[in-house]
Amino acid sequence: MEQAGGRLWVVATPIGNLDDLSPRAREVLAGVSLVAAEDTRHSAAILALAGSRAQRVALHEHNEREQAGRIVMRLRQGEDVALVSDAGTPLVSDPGFRLVQAARAAGCAVSPVPGPCAAIAALSVAGLPSDRFVFEGFLPARAGPRRQRLQELAGETRTLIFYESSHRIADSLADFVGVFGGEREAVLARELTKLFETVLAGSLQELAARVAGDPDQRRGEFVLVVGGAAAQAAEARLAEGRRVFALLKGELPPARAARLAAAISGASRREIYAGGEEER
Ligand code: SAM
Repeated sequence: MEQAGGRLWVVATPIGNLDDLSPRAREVLAGVSLVAAEDTRHSAAILALAGSRAQRVALHEHNEREQAGRIVMRLRQGEDVALVSDAGTPLVSDPGFRLVQAARAAGCAVSPVPGPCAAIAALSVAGLPSDRFVFEGFLPARAGPRRQRLQELAGETRTLIFYESSHRIADSLADFVGVFGGEREAVLARELTKLFETVLAGSLQELAARVAGDPDQRRGEFVLVVGGAAAQAAEARLAEGRRVFALLKGELPPARAARLAAAISGASRREIYAGGEEER
């Protein structure tokens, strides 16, 4: 589709250290006439630093649909607009997806101004395999759904990256130990680029004990990077999952049989199901 009107700039901002605001981000923020911010008060400091005098509008998960329509109208009238979130890269566990989708659908140009992202910053210092990784964002807040999600991920062989909050980090680590086993290698990155930056490496069991025993290690913002399941162990789990699935699918609806086989074996339900389907 032909590109029309102004440009939507998706601008990454610091995750702690204000010196991480790039010269290009400053230039773009200073040049646009409208800034869509997750929280306009929170972004005031960054916008002041960039010398931006742009009009500000709030764009958050509760108003994104309506706000996206209004912002796209302004893009179509030729205005340049910047999207920022409270910290880091917009759309990464942050609002913005609907706005970008709407702008692209309307034929408007969308450009990134890349920069800080907590997940990538943590991965870059974790020292865990980084050629292939999966970003899982936040786990469910409630224990049941959280353990269920971890069950689904237990067989994943790629490095896994999670965001976590200070009030759940201890409980989440305990659940990781329960579902992934205590031996799995992991790295807990806390307060990256800030005064109390701490990067702890060890087994899940060691990290869980350290966080449970030291209230200081439960303060601030966290990224947990977890090594993938060893390929051999993953294969054994999948073989076990398919064996259980084959036994159960004569007795139960296939989806339920696959869910139970995944919970029993720790393999992914999708992979078990795919194998079961091929066999038919
Ligand atoms: N869009 C952001 C990004 O690009 O990283 C992430 C936004 S998400 C709502 C906020 C979460 O990111 C925090 O709860 C924490 O898990 C992680 N996070 C953000 N800043 C961090 C920092 N300085 N150190 C460690 N984790 C951080």
